[in-house]
Amino acid sequence: MAIVHRLLRSTAAAFFSPAAAAARGGLSALAAERTLERNVQWVFLGCPGVGKGTYASRLSQLVGVPHIATGDLVREELASSGPLSQQLAEIVNQGKLVSDEIIIDLLSKRLERGETKGESGFILDGFPRTVGQAEILDSVTEIDLVVNLKLREDVLLEKCLGRRTCSQCGGNFNIASINVEEVNGKPRMYMPPLLPPANCMSKLITRADDTEEVVKKRLHIYNEMSRPVEEFYRKRGKLLEFDLPGGIPESWPKLLQALNIEDHDDKQCAVA
Ligand SMILES: [Zn+2]
Repeated sequence: MAIVHRLLRSTAAAFFSPAAAAARGGLSALAAERTLERNVQWVFLGCPGVGKGTYASRLSQLVGVPHIATGDLVREELASSGPLSQQLAEIVNQGKLVSDEIIIDLLSKRLERGETKGESGFILDGFPRTVGQAEILDSVTEIDLVVNLKLREDVLLEKCLGRRTCSQCGGNFNIASINVEEVNGKPRMYMPPLLPPANCMSKLITRADDTEEVVKKRLHIYNEMSRPVEEFYRKRGKLLEFDLPGGIPESWPKLLQALNIEDHDDKQCAVA
């Protein structure tokens, strides 16, 4: 497998406390201990639109590992007019999932490039998406932890439909203003819109695959496919379920707490 030697280990990152992780339950102490010997090898799962890219990217900067998003790899390939780009365009425009073979090919090339630059550890975002992919990954490297980010489905749909991109500068924004009252013990959820600066406002476009029909189809496909992947990692004691309590200001410190990570740049977020 091309991926084999790309995922191998390196030196320590002691951000992760094995004792605390093990005590929290659900995580195997073994998985946590191994993290101390090298940089973290984590996976982020979550529906499209849940914001996993944002959290994975922030965490990768904090922990000092590359954030590898297979969605970005696909978009880069699409933009490159490379050999796969036309085939990919058709799949993506129909709201379908890209095949394991293509994803593994793109990921393996990305890891190869990283290795030559001396990268170690990773946070994978959008991979593995199927049990088949999880098995391939499992056969070639140790995944320490799989963080499953979750958000109420009604909120998720609204957020996906609120996504906008500036056609001029390429900036990403979200016009959805989420303010859901407390229902049946589910806490109130407030997520303000992420509005663009005034000069982008008239240039906002919606991604072709962000129509309600395509978003719903994407969420349905995601749920169907992700359950077995979650189960795969749950059985191995590596799945950390995390319900997002709201937007980034509320969710970020709680996520760090769940991961037992201290953010040295932000004392307010520090976890004892
Ligand atoms: Zn703009």
